[in-house]
Amino acid sequence: MSLIGLSTLAVHGGEEKQKPENALTTPIFQTATFPFQGMEERLAYNSGEISRYSYGRYGNPTQRAAEEKLAALEGGEAALLFASGMAAVTTCLLTFLSQGDHVLFVDQCYWQTRSFAVTFLPRLGVEADFIPRWSPGEVERRIRENTKVIFAEIPTNPHLNVPDIGELVAVGQACGAVVIVDSTMATPINLRPLEFGVDLVVHSATKYLGGHNDLLAGAVVGSEERVKAVKEVQAYLGGIPDPHGAYLLLRGMKTLALRVVRQNETALAVARFLEEHPKVRRVWYPGLPGHPHHEVARRYLAGYGGVVSFELSASAEETGRFIDALHIPYLASSFGGVESLVEQSAFTSFCAFSPEERRELGISDSLVRLSVGVEDPRDLIADLEHALAEAPP
Ligand code: PLP
Repeated sequence: MSLIGLSTLAVHGGEEKQKPENALTTPIFQTATFPFQGMEERLAYNSGEISRYSYGRYGNPTQRAAEEKLAALEGGEAALLFASGMAAVTTCLLTFLSQGDHVLFVDQCYWQTRSFAVTFLPRLGVEADFIPRWSPGEVERRIRENTKVIFAEIPTNPHLNVPDIGELVAVGQACGAVVIVDSTMATPINLRPLEFGVDLVVHSATKYLGGHNDLLAGAVVGSEERVKAVKEVQAYLGGIPDPHGAYLLLRGMKTLALRVVRQNETALAVARFLEEHPKVRRVWYPGLPGHPHHEVARRYLAGYGGVVSFELSASAEETGRFIDALHIPYLASSFGGVESLVEQSAFTSFCAFSPEERRELGISDSLVRLSVGVEDPRDLIADLEHALAEAPP
């Protein structure tokens, strides 16, 4: 039987039906190392005659099951898990960049990714360049002879911009650069970048893939060859997941399709509600026709995601009071889990930036990012309504 539906893949993909001791679920292999029977087996392993697990930094069966599930969901040949999304992003960049290379970041980036590119990559002699807002033709204009990597988040955070994947891939293929898409916000339920020719997908699996705000993990997905290259660098840098975290991720991914479809629906309803509200100055959600990248989003995304950003017609303090008046969402960094989370971006994700830098990045003091969980949409909307009623006119 070929498994093709994403919900079916989420539940069964990547896992053997017959598991150790007839268990239904994949066990947690909580071990640092995998002893050999004797030197004969060890030597057979060394010569490649047999393949098996040897040491935890090079792989673990629980980790492997989660990797295979994610590879199946993304339609990739291979996947590799990491200790966090940042471990995945940095290991991936360090794999494909060397002294004298140029890397192009398209549109908004997670602030730590940007900070790594600005402060760390130059120490290695790599030049990082940023296109603050994607617009058609801009990537091609900014490419150089030594551009080795094109990196984009799709959709971006917090403005949910959607750079055109087709354009990134066309430019990358023309100049021989590796195209990497951070698809944390989309998940394979809403977007499978590899199907559009992207070379590698990275994830902060801490977000939707894990989905329960209880683990940190990262992932890279792509061809066997590229993932193998990243794995070699991971073996040096050591940013591997622990077996228990890998199990939580495996478990979380089983409900990925259910959760994301629900979060797509709720976020769209919330965005439409906010768009009509007189105290809301502007809403960013790629599912709304008013979003600048709505047409691109319609072309590539199967759903528009669970994050809605909006600006209140209010001061920084008043926006803070609106957030404090909300009952359901937690005021916390992160997104993508079953619990709704909210943040006033200027004072949370972007608090390390100066007011000028925030202005340049379009992060106003009254910008709110809401990650909808899987609560009842009408309860979330009622909560927003009551908190907005307390906000100034
Ligand atoms: N990529 C994106 C788009 C993110 O939002 C984040 C974190 O928020 C990361 C990468 C880093 O992931 P982690 O926090 O799991 O290291």
